Amino acid sequence: MLNFIGSGSAFNTQLGNTSAFIKKKDSLLLIDSGGTVFHRLRELKILEELKKIYIIITHTHPDHVGSLGEVIFYSYYILGHKPTVLFPNDELMKSFLTNIGVSQEMYLLESSFNVTFADENLGKIDINFLPVSHVETIPAYGFVMREREGVIYYSGDSNHIEDEIISKLKNGKLDRLYQDTCGLDYEGNSHMSLRKLKETIHFDLRNKVYCMHLDQHIDIEEVVHQGFQVVK
Ligand SMILES: [Zn+2]
Ligand SMILES: [Zn+2]
Repeated sequence: MLNFIGSGSAFNTQLGNTSAFIKKKDSLLLIDSGGTVFHRLRELKILEELKKIYIIITHTHPDHVGSLGEVIFYSYYILGHKPTVLFPNDELMKSFLTNIGVSQEMYLLESSFNVTFADENLGKIDINFLPVSHVETIPAYGFVMREREGVIYYSGDSNHIEDEIISKLKNGKLDRLYQDTCGLDYEGNSHMSLRKLKETIHFDLRNKVYCMHLDQHIDIEEVVHQGFQVVK
């Protein structure tokens, strides 16, 4: 299951950019790498001695890729190997990285929607990306991931949960659902408000739903009172 480096929205500097990881021995799977993430990874000594780094990117907003270049540089120059970046839009990721001076020989890019790989420490991992509803300007993806400890859905930034994901939750096919959730609630919101999340998820299923990407307006006590979990 996931550990979180940060759980805040883009402007919630107190909680840091939302980013999660699984680390087993010298293998790391990182989900998103926003502006505050590299600093925290170094502070927590998570990158030391790593032999394998996989980085899932949900979309290219700064609070999700702001320090991706640093993580790749650190892996390439200090740890001495290329990290694998998983992102379904090949062209977009290449051009973003090229534009910040990260050349293609420094990383491996996996851009299929359905990815399966086996790592000696993390075990077999299956990732199925799906497009999610966030903003008009760039594509955004959520994903279902099956790993040794269970099956999760991770929304990335999204103002909607697809029906297929809700059915999986209902049918017991998901152990946890991680959802971008905010206190602010207005027409055209690119994130999921707590109000909308309550309308979407039946009370009985809420203990499997973990709220993340929290803004300053969200009332954590209310989130918990409504039966949801909050990532730490
Ligand atoms: Zn975003
Ligand atoms: Zn974000």
